Amino acid sequence: MLSEFLSLIYPATCLNCNETLISAENFICTSCKMDLPETMDHLNPENELFQKFAYNPLVKSAAAFLYFNEGGIAQKLIHNLKYEGAHEIGDLLGAEYGRTLSTFLNPDIIVPVPIHKKKLSKRGYNQSLGFANGLASCFEESEVRDDLIYRIKNTATQTRKNKLSRWQNVDNIYSEVKEDLEGKVVAIVDDVITTGATVGMLCDKLVEANASAIHILCIARR
Ligand SMILES: [Zn+2]
Repeated sequence: MLSEFLSLIYPATCLNCNETLISAENFICTSCKMDLPETMDHLNPENELFQKFAYNPLVKSAAAFLYFNEGGIAQKLIHNLKYEGAHEIGDLLGAEYGRTLSTFLNPDIIVPVPIHKKKLSKRGYNQSLGFANGLASCFEESEVRDDLIYRIKNTATQTRKNKLSRWQNVDNIYSEVKEDLEGKVVAIVDDVITTGATVGMLCDKLVEANASAIHILCIARR
């Protein structure tokens, strides 16, 4: 019923190749789904994404589902997820990736990277929440918590600032974590990770809250 409902809202053609979708397909056709540019990061603990966070001893793993290439399928999926209201894409990709990850990971808490309330009210949803929910549906006892930490600064583009003020700017974008996380294994979930700077700051907040280990997951990495 959900897919029938969605077909009323979204054109029932593949986001990637424009082929008409059959009823069991959502957003992309089976052929494009088989061609998803998967990173297989979970099989390579020392992968490029993990290297961005390796300075933090609490970060135990990092993995992206897909490679983000300009004009590629991951970019199309994420564009629709973020800017076209297609938040179900996150749930679908999360459930897909979760099936792969469930033999490797079982975090206690999954934290979608928070977005500022202004952005939240404009978009209507946090684009990382669906991905978090999809992942959680595959893990044994994971709880999705989007109420633990908030984005307190809606930072504008930082490209014109010097290195020092850029650092300060990023440093204060998140609130403190609201609970003590002692003994908890936390997975941070984001849509796209480029530099890893903001996720790194979120990790620092989780360290301050005594989390016992951190894993980082995202839909795609550049
Ligand atoms: Zn297709």
